[in-house]
Amino acid sequence: MNKNSRIFIAGHNGLVGSAVYRNLIEKGYKNLFFLSKKKLDLSDSKKVDIYFKKKKIEYLVICAALAGGILANSRYPVEFFNENIKIQNSLLNAALKFKLKRTIFLGTSCIYPHNTKTPIKEDQLLSGKLHPSNQAYAIAKIAGIKLCEALYKQYNLDIVAAMPTNVYGVNDKYSEKDSHVIPGLILKFLKAKRENKKKVEVWGDGSPEREFIFSDDLAEAIYILLTTSKKKIFKICDNSFPIINVGTGEIYSIKQLVNIIAKKVAYKGKVFFNSRYPNGVHKKDIDISRIKKLKWSPKFDLNKGLDIVLGEIRI
Ligand code: GDP
Repeated sequence: MNKNSRIFIAGHNGLVGSAVYRNLIEKGYKNLFFLSKKKLDLSDSKKVDIYFKKKKIEYLVICAALAGGILANSRYPVEFFNENIKIQNSLLNAALKFKLKRTIFLGTSCIYPHNTKTPIKEDQLLSGKLHPSNQAYAIAKIAGIKLCEALYKQYNLDIVAAMPTNVYGVNDKYSEKDSHVIPGLILKFLKAKRENKKKVEVWGDGSPEREFIFSDDLAEAIYILLTTSKKKIFKICDNSFPIINVGTGEIYSIKQLVNIIAKKVAYKGKVFFNSRYPNGVHKKDIDISRIKKLKWSPKFDLNKGLDIVLGEIRI
């Protein structure tokens, strides 16, 4: 890949896609392609094909997905399933049709079984049952990974599947009901502080543990996965189709996270853990030895990352 390579960022408006865009712009890449959903519906494979052909796309980063927190996953399983399957199918089939030089497919750590040994290694995929709280999303993403693997093996297409843990960062989606825990809590605590509320409600009992990655760190990992030779990636993946976890190795309980956010926004009221809401997976942390072999390590710990997010947020 060189500075004039023609790279399509699918989902450039989202949390991860916008970080990938910033990362590539900072490094001097000149031919970045992206379009809003209004201009190009990524689930429409005919339109995607026409666009890829016209723009002579060479590289593809698939960040486009319908994603959301634990409640959104149980509220809209149909949309989470259909949208994600359609988007990834049209993009991955275009990657084959136009023989792209490399495609990065973004998955999620929810693809792994929920009662498996942690930190979870990539080869634990499909070794046990998925957690019921996000099965539709996880199965859609597993279907995407399996399509990538088939394209890689059957057609020798150059694809890398990256599995990030819970991502947060600038340009996140803030919704009390539908976002992931970090933006959800930031929104609730900032509102409670502004409105002098005596109590903030947190879902579950606070015991689940999560690993969080700042979007700019993930974007740098994606850059490394775009630019490292196929041979080297194959080797660090035990000579198999490349699935590569991207996390930080640091885990926090939701209770710890709540304390950190409450302190950062200087909220002095009470916190109420509502166990009527689901906890989800008890512990979700991933093994990152593969990506570390490519000399990547995170630059932003949770403290630093949250300071950046809180510095930029306008709610
Ligand atoms: P998950 O990692 O797939 O479970 O997704 P989330 O990021 O949505 O949730 C992580 C954990 O945070 C779960 O145990 C939730 O119950 C808990 N949690 C506590 N308060 C909130 C909240 O306001 N929003 C979200 N999304 N999760 C919350």
